[in-house]
Amino acid sequence: MFRKVNKIKRMIASFSSFLRAFALGQLWRKFLYGKNYIRVVNYHDTPAVDKTNLEKQFKFLRDHYEPVAEKDLEQFLKSGKWTKSRPGLVLSFDDGLYSNYQYAAPLLDKYGLTGWFFVPTGLISSEKSSSVELAKKGTVQFNLPDPDVPLFMSWKDLNHLKEKHVIGSHTVNHIRLGHNLDDTQLKYEILSSKKVLEEKLACEISSFCWVGGEESSYSRRGAQFIKEAGYQFSFMTNSQVVRFKKTDPLKIQRTNIESHWSLSLLKFQLSGLMDVKYFFKRKRVNQVTNV
Ligand SMILES: [Zn+2]
Repeated sequence: MFRKVNKIKRMIASFSSFLRAFALGQLWRKFLYGKNYIRVVNYHDTPAVDKTNLEKQFKFLRDHYEPVAEKDLEQFLKSGKWTKSRPGLVLSFDDGLYSNYQYAAPLLDKYGLTGWFFVPTGLISSEKSSSVELAKKGTVQFNLPDPDVPLFMSWKDLNHLKEKHVIGSHTVNHIRLGHNLDDTQLKYEILSSKKVLEEKLACEISSFCWVGGEESSYSRRGAQFIKEAGYQFSFMTNSQVVRFKKTDPLKIQRTNIESHWSLSLLKFQLSGLMDVKYFFKRKRVNQVTNV
């Protein structure tokens, strides 16, 4: 159901493709920032049926951006130094789905891209029989895979991914960190997910990603605990490029992309029009999460 793309959005995407909105947006950003900025995108499920399409998208992204690892992001935000020939790209995947490991990761490696995988620790290594129930409870969106294939990645998969890619926390239970949660729940979701990832993967976990994206899924106490937990980067989903001195490392904005989208829709999403669309929401969420 969620794979359907709204007809109006499709029409706007075709029209913006006709107007070359992505190319114009890139030119505009080049004029304003040169190549000194980083675009952040996020995917969800990347099922087998989208493999060919996903490869087209990755080729496009490889041709227009440079991969960004945590140390690149850290250096850029601290010094503004960006020595690569194109703008950067943080390419993230939410929810720890096995399809990311099975289909997206090999393509990332093929195109020399760096993936950032935000995983809810409570859904990792869950028994196959209960994983669908857990996914539904955690409101994770997915396409039902082959019954023999797990729905979520295992710790072994994540240990393999961390060699070349970035792993971050996406809470324990894939829960929205709104005002309805008390401090004990918030602490558990934010702090213990970091601790578990660090224990299981034997490395420091520096990145966190909020669940959801609706305004009600953000809260000041949540932001406070993310800061106190010692995360270096925290990701939201209100579309804006990352810039030196302009971006708060704990309020990095991402733009949503889905693996079944056409290239024209992908280009529309990255044209910069989404950054404009989210202007007021971004301001409100920034205010709610000021700590
Ligand atoms: Zn999620």
